[in-house]
Order: sequence, then structure tokens, then C-alpha cells
Amino acid sequence: MKPTVVLVGRPNVGKSTLFNRLTKTRDALVADLPGLTRDRHYGHGRVGDKPYLVVDTGGFEPVVDSGIMHEMARQTLQAVDEADAVVFLVDARSGLTPQDKIIANQLRQGSRPVYLVVNKAEGMSRAMVVAEFYELGLGEPWSISGAHGEGVRELMDEVLEPF
Ligand code: GDP
Ligand code: MG
Repeated sequence: MKPTVVLVGRPNVGKSTLFNRLTKTRDALVADLPGLTRDRHYGHGRVGDKPYLVVDTGGFEPVVDSGIMHEMARQTLQAVDEADAVVFLVDARSGLTPQDKIIANQLRQGSRPVYLVVNKAEGMSRAMVVAEFYELGLGEPWSISGAHGEGVRELMDEVLEPF
């Protein structure tokens, strides 16, 4: 069985851009409009000789309890539950947000390994980028640029190492 890696994070952190890079497709909808990807979206990735399944999720909205936002949270939580590893994206440009903290709390309660990944870090110093995210309590943050491909291979090598 291929391991499944799920991408989670609040809207607009770059999940779909990273999904597209990992799957080398334009399948996931990338947009400036936050939360446009409303469904779970599956694709095939490979690092070296290791194939895996990657899941793009439509935003994590655990604070809102009605309508489509509720559905998105439910779908995301189910995807997390079914995954072998969780890549939790945050945004170097906007910094740590209250929503990131809520998501981190939910993920820390799960049993899956969680990789905290600071995205959009191109052209920034790693130490500066990751500093404020240690407080999420998810260990050493990674820094990548999904759009430019920086740090993505190293991250996926680590995520898939146990499989
Ligand atoms: P999602 O809502 O989490 O799926 O985020 P998207 O992948 O749709 O990206 C949201 C916005 O962030 C888009 O304008 C992307 O072009 C931009 N973006 C995504 N990855 C990066 C990155 O690595 N660096 C920068 N500077 N922008 C990025
Ligand atoms: Mg998206």
C-alpha cells in the first residue's frame, strides 16, 4: 500500500501549489481566492523509488460550525484520520495566526506524524522564518517554497523515510 500524505492548513497558505508540484499536474485549483478548493483532492507523487498518495484539503475551518465551512472541517479531519503523515502548512509571509494555533491543537491530539512546514520562504533566512512557529509545539519547523520548489525534496524524503 502506498503511504498517504495529507496537506492541511488554513486557506491560502499554498496547499494546492504544493500539491501541484508534488503531483506535477495542474489538477488542484490554485487561486488567490482563499478556500477555493472545497473538496479533498487526491494525486500520485513519487520521491526516488517511493510512490505515495497526496491529498489536498480545502482549508481547515474548525472554528466555524455551520454550512460549507463545517463540511470543509469535517472533510479535512477525515482526511487527516485516513492519512499516514500530515504536512501542516503555515505561511512565512503572514506569520503565525490564531487559526494556525487552533489547527495545531487539533493535529497534536491525533496519532499521525505531523510535519510543520513554513511555506513561501523563498528569499528569506530559515532561522528568521521558523522562529515564531516553535510555539506551536510541533517540533522543528521546515521551511520551503512550494512555488519555487525549494526544500520540497528534502521535506518529502523525511516524510516518506518510515515507509
Ligand atoms: P491554498 O488555499 O492553501 O490551496 O493556497 P494556494 O496554493 O491556492 O496558494 C495561495 C496563494 O499563495 C496563491 O497566490 C499562490 O500563488 C501563493 N503561493 C503558494 N505557494 C507559494 C510560495 O511558495 N511562495 C509564494 N511567494 N507564494 C506562494
Ligand atoms: Mg487550495
